[in-house]
Amino acid sequence: MQKEYTIIGGGVIGLSIAYQLVKAKQRVTIFNITSPTTASLAAGGMLGGQNEFSEPSPLFDLAIESRAAHKNLAKELATLTGVDVELIPSGLIKVATNEQQKQFLHKQYQFLQKQKTTPVYWKDAHDVEPLLTPHLGRALHITADHQVKARQLTKALTIAVQKLGVRIITQHVRKITATSVVTDNASYPFTQLIVAAGAWSKQLLPHLPLYPVKGECMMVKTAHTPSTTVFAVDGCYIVPKRNNEVLIGATSYPNEVDPNVTVGGILSLLTRATAMMPSLKDATIIESWCGVRPQTADGLPIIGAISPTMYVCTGHYRNGILLSPITGKLVAQALLGDVTATQRLAPFSPQRFTQGGYVCN
Ligand SMILES: Cc1cc2nc3c(=O)[nH]c(=O)nc-3n(C[C@H](O)[C@H](O)[C@H](O)COP(=O)(O)OP(=O)(O)OC[C@H]3O[C@@H](n4cnc5c(N)ncnc54)[C@H](O)[C@@H]3O)c2cc1C
Repeated sequence: MQKEYTIIGGGVIGLSIAYQLVKAKQRVTIFNITSPTTASLAAGGMLGGQNEFSEPSPLFDLAIESRAAHKNLAKELATLTGVDVELIPSGLIKVATNEQQKQFLHKQYQFLQKQKTTPVYWKDAHDVEPLLTPHLGRALHITADHQVKARQLTKALTIAVQKLGVRIITQHVRKITATSVVTDNASYPFTQLIVAAGAWSKQLLPHLPLYPVKGECMMVKTAHTPSTTVFAVDGCYIVPKRNNEVLIGATSYPNEVDPNVTVGGILSLLTRATAMMPSLKDATIIESWCGVRPQTADGLPIIGAISPTMYVCTGHYRNGILLSPITGKLVAQALLGDVTATQRLAPFSPQRFTQGGYVCN
């Protein structure tokens, strides 16, 4: 049966839900105003299905499945839109820069070794990536954590959903009522609403235990491009992109949302990145930017119904690019009545934070 869905948010999460719903022959409208800090346009694009986990999590299996789904998605989107999401099978080497981090990293290696997924290795970092300083010693090599260009993925999904018939209304949603979406221009009644507005979801649903975490990144061009993504335990990463470009990220400022890139932020990234990879000192700076990650009180996404006609899907923090295919698939299936999908999403239900339900006014 065809139904009408209204989504607030045109980042990778809202777009992935729209993509799956429209492929299932549903009618979809997205409200989106792109912000200078839209997370999907700021991300490093790493698909850290194993890198992001050092202990059991209800998200782990979904992350592994989502990482694998990016391959087919990239092909599908290229055929449908002509846009290449630049999926690069670079793998990832996770390094420690002090003794405490090394102990954490070795524990993560032992944890990942026991999981039933792609093997991980404990190797000399310099052997895996010769551009790294030899001082780093042994590190965690994850050969299956590849990466995409996040802006290209967002662009491809935007074009894809429009080609398949999704209407994108570029208006700011000021508020939602029990039955309509109110923009600066008009009021639009909805049948089924999905709030997927990233870190801004809390402006529409103030009770959500959600907060923004600003992050800065930069792109440089270098004659010495690494062949592997390098991720330091302290959160600094070096991601090789096409055309000798290398993305360096990312700072982390909880509860900050301003769109400014600071000298202190760039200094911190460059100090840490060049200490790990000295050849980056010869690189040319191309661009810097920042974005706002949606983080939750317990670190897990918030996905589920908050009323019979309202659904929320946000809080993917620093893994929304990785998790977008599985999120889109399971949310669409759950909305279409699939009980298994609803069960798989149960650990992320907004009800875990409340005794009763959410009320919106
Ligand atoms: C610096 C940085 C690095 C990252 N690196 C990675 C990475 O390497 N790998 C990874 O998997 N993830 C990464 N992430 C995380 C990832 O980017 C996010 O988890 C993901 O993009 C969140 O997507 P979203 O659609 O929920 O939110 P967003 O991408 O922020 O999209 C929400 C959209 O809704 C719009 N909107 C909000 N409110 C309204 C409203 N009221 N009316 C109309 N429009 C509205 C916003 O303007 C925005 O366009 C990174 C994030 C940052 C900031």
